[in-house]
Amino acid sequence: MGESMLVRVIYIKHMGMGNRQIIEMDPVRIKELVSGRETENIAFRRFLKGMDGNAVDRLVQSLHKEIIPQVDCTLCGNCCSCLKPGISRYDIKILADLEGVSTEEYVLGYCREDEFDGIFLKDTPCRYLVGKRCSIYESRPGQCRKFPYTGENGFIFRLWGIIGFYGICPIVFHIIERLKGSLGFRYRQRNGTIGRE
Ligand code: SF4
Ligand code: SF4
Repeated sequence: MGESMLVRVIYIKHMGMGNRQIIEMDPVRIKELVSGRETENIAFRRFLKGMDGNAVDRLVQSLHKEIIPQVDCTLCGNCCSCLKPGISRYDIKILADLEGVSTEEYVLGYCREDEFDGIFLKDTPCRYLVGKRCSIYESRPGQCRKFPYTGENGFIFRLWGIIGFYGICPIVFHIIERLKGSLGFRYRQRNGTIGRE
């Protein structure tokens, strides 16, 4: 069976599952779970290479739809604690208005500019994080709305970036782990044992 056909069959099987499970959300526990899986994830990246990108996107997006309702981001806030979202000119205008400063003052006071990454919020944790919640939720930047990007197309193409969030975001961790399972990915550790079912 060709790889794209294999992905399609697994996708259909997966869609039939309709199961709802309790998922691990504790960032400390997630950190423990991801420890030592770097080589495995490199192997998974190789495993995905050459697969039908559209079929993988459909599978990832179905996992995304399944997992998102099981996650309460207001009990986590981990991304806002340790990542710096990029912001557009549109975001800057909104945030500058909220702070009551000009866009130039906002960039000087609250942002960093990078030749490659553009403009991003400079503080970690984010200055708008209160407890584990975003205090400007309705006005949050576009990147914050899209994070962790698992509902978008181009998963294989963006995999390396997304794996960067594997130990930070429980959504990413569970999607990638379920994706490995759904695709039948096996990882043979150095001692010869199979690391993944
Ligand atoms: S603006 Fe809100 S959603 Fe974005 S990083 Fe800050 S606290 Fe999180
Ligand atoms: S997007 Fe991920 S890291 Fe951010 S609050 Fe939600 S579960 Fe936590």
